[in-house]
Amino acid sequence: MPELPEVETIRRNLNTVLQNEVIESVNVYYWPIVSNNLDFETKLKGQRIHQVERQAKYLKFILDDYMLISHLRMEGKYFINAPRSKHIHVVFNLESGHTLSYEDTRKFGRFELVDIKEKDTYLKDKKNLAPDPVDMDLDTFYDAFKHRKITIKEILLDQTVIGGIGNIYANEILYLSKIHPAKKGNLITKKEADTLLKNSIKVLNKAIQMGGTTIDTYESLGHKGMFQQELHVHGQTGKTCQYGHDTIVKFQLKGRGTYICPSCQPSYVVAITGGIATGKSTVSQYLKKLGFVVIDADSIVGELYEDEDIVKKIAKTFELELPLDKAKLANIIFNQPAERKKLEHILHPLVFEQIQAKKETYNEHILFLDIPLLFEAGYSTYDESVLIDASRDNQVMRLMKRNRYTKKEASVRIDAQMPLSEKRKLATVVIENNDSIESLYEKIDKLLERYV
Ligand SMILES: [Zn+2]
Repeated sequence: MPELPEVETIRRNLNTVLQNEVIESVNVYYWPIVSNNLDFETKLKGQRIHQVERQAKYLKFILDDYMLISHLRMEGKYFINAPRSKHIHVVFNLESGHTLSYEDTRKFGRFELVDIKEKDTYLKDKKNLAPDPVDMDLDTFYDAFKHRKITIKEILLDQTVIGGIGNIYANEILYLSKIHPAKKGNLITKKEADTLLKNSIKVLNKAIQMGGTTIDTYESLGHKGMFQQELHVHGQTGKTCQYGHDTIVKFQLKGRGTYICPSCQPSYVVAITGGIATGKSTVSQYLKKLGFVVIDADSIVGELYEDEDIVKKIAKTFELELPLDKAKLANIIFNQPAERKKLEHILHPLVFEQIQAKKETYNEHILFLDIPLLFEAGYSTYDESVLIDASRDNQVMRLMKRNRYTKKEASVRIDAQMPLSEKRKLATVVIENNDSIESLYEKIDKLLERYV
């Protein structure tokens, strides 16, 4: 399907041969291709082609009294002096003796003839067509989608938001902008919108320079495009990304072939954290039940303790015997903050590494990360954080009931953590869990509306 660069290439080629030609007569062989077909052949007779312009994926033939709009859709093509064939549906006979033929194997293309007075307004007013990226200002672009909960890829393909971008270029633009295609419009920052707009212009201009992209059948007056040699992700499944990351993967997004580098275009990560007995694990389990991917930092720590080399390193650091006595280790780090730091120094970088590795194995556009020590550990590779909060009384009560701690033991545990008052200041969203479990689920459901 020709997108902006292909249509622009066609426009340039047509202009070199058609400028100032006069239409002697027109033959339409398949009428449904002409949208408002009344007097189409009569009106065009004797009209001079001043030039061919373009807006998004539409060609605009500027004539004396009319503007002829041509939308190529899937397979529309132009040929000069081509012999008649069954796929040629419209022929323009020119006074110079040349002919311009419109061929369309799928018959999806359309012609529309409008008054020349509507030259600059028709597509905007009647088709609600947005400007090309190069004519778009950031505020207009961002305002058009900042509250919309559809994917950014659908937004880029929406011709009423931004003109001229189709599937191939949307894949390329999102890759260069390092944005996951399924990220929702309402989660895109203005800075990301700016990057998207700049990359749209960059990608489209480069493609125009290369004469467009020829993957299926596109050609312009017999010339094939060369941009297919410049594609980073589109059609590149299994190849290594230009930054040396993993292989490019393909998946379907709203029925369109979508290509990404999972490293360059990470999922949107929501980190769930809390304090001891605030209900974070309940939230994690609920999210898993709803079918979301939840990466669990505690189970990663558990896996690390299965690793012989790591266990040896820990034993050596704390002068403990093997097999490692976990209760003894817990006792050391619980009572001596300096010792705890030593353990964290060993474990945290490994946990971060494992989180990253796990993140890259999913194509989900949204991932939850259950990470109790989010703020304490200084982990920063996430988009938003959700703090599951509870009153101190509730924490104490739950610890006494769940862990059979005395009130004093419960207090000691709570006081050993970073205070919830501090975590509240750092979290993007705070969810209070002081009532029933149903009320907690309701709050989570409401939170999820933001992401899905
Ligand atoms: Zn990459």
